[in-house]
Amino acid sequence: MLVSAAEMLKKAKAGHYAVGQFNINNLEWTKAVLQTAQELNSPVILGVSEGAGKYMTGYTTIVGMVNGMIKEMNITVPVALHLDHGSYEHCYKCIEAGFSSIMFDGSHYSIEENVAKTTELVAAAHAKGISIEAEVGSIGGEEDGVIGMGECADPNECKQIADLGVDFLAAGIGNIHGKYPANWKGLSFETLDAVQQLTGDMPLVLHGGTGIPTDMIKKAITLGVAKINVNTECQLSFAAATRKYVEAGKDLEGKGFDPRKLLAPGFDAIKATVKEKMEIFGSVNQA
Ligand SMILES: [Zn+2]
Repeated sequence: MLVSAAEMLKKAKAGHYAVGQFNINNLEWTKAVLQTAQELNSPVILGVSEGAGKYMTGYTTIVGMVNGMIKEMNITVPVALHLDHGSYEHCYKCIEAGFSSIMFDGSHYSIEENVAKTTELVAAAHAKGISIEAEVGSIGGEEDGVIGMGECADPNECKQIADLGVDFLAAGIGNIHGKYPANWKGLSFETLDAVQQLTGDMPLVLHGGTGIPTDMIKKAITLGVAKINVNTECQLSFAAATRKYVEAGKDLEGKGFDPRKLLAPGFDAIKATVKEKMEIFGSVNQA
């Protein structure tokens, strides 16, 4: 059964580890993430962007697939199904479709409008036992065509949004979606520390987990980060493994063209990436 992410992240923050949010794109992706979480006895959050939701034909398809897999694969670790960077309209669509968690990305609105819309969505989500993430300060890079510059959030605005009753909060601390440029200045631990001091027990979320050095990830966890989003890294490892298979001509040998064979190396590569992240985040055996 899907669970809200509120409790698993409260536990993570108190236990000084982080739960990974792994974005899914199809059946193989979802199966790889769930299987790895179960094998490592780790809680897990499945992230779905609006673009991926559209690609998979819609949110009810995803809810059906994930619930089916939890049952058929005997998944017993806590699993949350979470809308990533949701617009106001899509938050309602996911609440309706049976997601157990949503993120409202109101970072591009004025703080007043972000507050008004977040307040409304907190009530709508909590009425159904669904957890809600909010964002302050836009996160850099490109995600589904939206490009941000990686600003640092204003800690006072973070406190203002946290007080609206959101379950966890994404604060921009210089992080970027996708690959990091060579001249990246690194995470602003000063900002993170200031945000945590004002928001107390609120689990903080680090977006753009791909390519942040491990020591920075670990330091961020000590400063209150309890959820880390991983997306691009699984895509890169899936693509590299699939490329290797095709370039080796394996799809031309025997029944190597069978999609179950063709997609197997990429599947295994996603599993390896997820395992590596769960070990770094410290969520292994925390289910
Ligand atoms: Zn993000």
